[in-house]
Amino acid sequence: MTQCNAHPPASPEEDQQKINTRMAQIKHKICVLSGKGGVGKSTVAVNLATALADAGKKVGLLDVDIHGPSIPTMLGLGTTPLVSNAGSVDPIYAGNLKVMSVGFLTENEDDAFIWRGPMKMGVIKQFLGDVEWGELDYLIVDCPPGTGDEPLSISQLIEDPAGAVIVTTPQQVAAVDVRKSLTFCKKLSMPVLGIVENMSGFTCPNCGEVVDIFHSGGGEKMAADFGVPFLGKLPIDPSIVKACDAGIPFIQSHAASETAQILREIIKPFLTLENNASSAAQPRPEKKGSMKIAVPTADGKLSMHFGHCEKFALVEVDPETKTITGSTELDPPPHEPGVLPRWLAEQGANIIIAGGMGQSAQSLFDEQNIGVVIGAPSEEPEILVKAYLAGALETGTNACDH
Ligand code: ADP
Repeated sequence: MTQCNAHPPASPEEDQQKINTRMAQIKHKICVLSGKGGVGKSTVAVNLATALADAGKKVGLLDVDIHGPSIPTMLGLGTTPLVSNAGSVDPIYAGNLKVMSVGFLTENEDDAFIWRGPMKMGVIKQFLGDVEWGELDYLIVDCPPGTGDEPLSISQLIEDPAGAVIVTTPQQVAAVDVRKSLTFCKKLSMPVLGIVENMSGFTCPNCGEVVDIFHSGGGEKMAADFGVPFLGKLPIDPSIVKACDAGIPFIQSHAASETAQILREIIKPFLTLENNASSAAQPRPEKKGSMKIAVPTADGKLSMHFGHCEKFALVEVDPETKTITGSTELDPPPHEPGVLPRWLAEQGANIIIAGGMGQSAQSLFDEQNIGVVIGAPSEEPEILVKAYLAGALETGTNACDH
């Protein structure tokens, strides 16, 4: 999936147009998210996709978990080579499921890719725009864990997602991770289709009794607190691990089990999305309004330490057309913990692009529903905002963590 050198590289607008054309053939795009890795996000993605395909739907499964692509292993596809055709790439079939994964880009399952920011964006764009998905009822997208650049890019590149499924574990729900995923969706106006609580209780392989090892029910409470649907609880089931390792979707290898029945229940709300195709295809409502991106500056360029900046540029953008519609320069109040996030929220900021920012400051912005992009270079605010809108903002390491 490399770019042909005979042609000049496509502009971000051309890339987006290509993605839109491809995505227009897919009725419902569902992102599977989790606050952190290892909670069973890919397992859930594989089994949801398989359950939908088993229900007679045309389904694609896209694995953009850049740092840990496990879908090929879970579907027994290994490192199947990709075949390209006149500028597009054929997905790999697992039964009647169309699959594409970062894992197919390595020659050996143990190989690790070192991804730089723009490379990640490039491969995500290619997966959405260049893969011959054809007409699908559902595209299930297994996103990287967390709320960083990659899930952000995916949710921006897919302009009309049906929504997100958030996978959590009972002991994780007490942590801020799930809340972060929920806030992430809210900020991006991505509907939350529901929460799945995985590893909720242990099913004894001998007697079938369910024992609550990590407690359970936390996901349900979190869903109620946030007013989002709760989709179901999946127990810890050793057969799931065996199925994953054997490369057979659990829902097929253990079709008669209670856990497989829970998985079939979980997809039921998605089946009714079918009757709702027109509303699911509507652009996200908040996208119609304007969005404000704050950039701390010193000498007219991004200040690497936002707490010690001279000014704040507040750049207004139209998220629909991804263009800048205005910009104001503001004098910030004196730097005290918590003051700047509150003040920026009052100014209507939705996102802050920063060079460096400590973890506690990031949490304070999170509380104010302001998205944080860190590790940006010292450039003029409008250059950074344009790069951000084009999905080409090169973010490096966090320059400050105090
Ligand atoms: P993530 O995508 O969140 O990193 P995975 O889906 O790769 O997590 O799952 C991590 C490991 O946990 C895998 O070995 C998988 O087989 C196992 N696993 C996932 N869900 C369950 C479950 N309900 N019971 C037992 N093992 C599970």
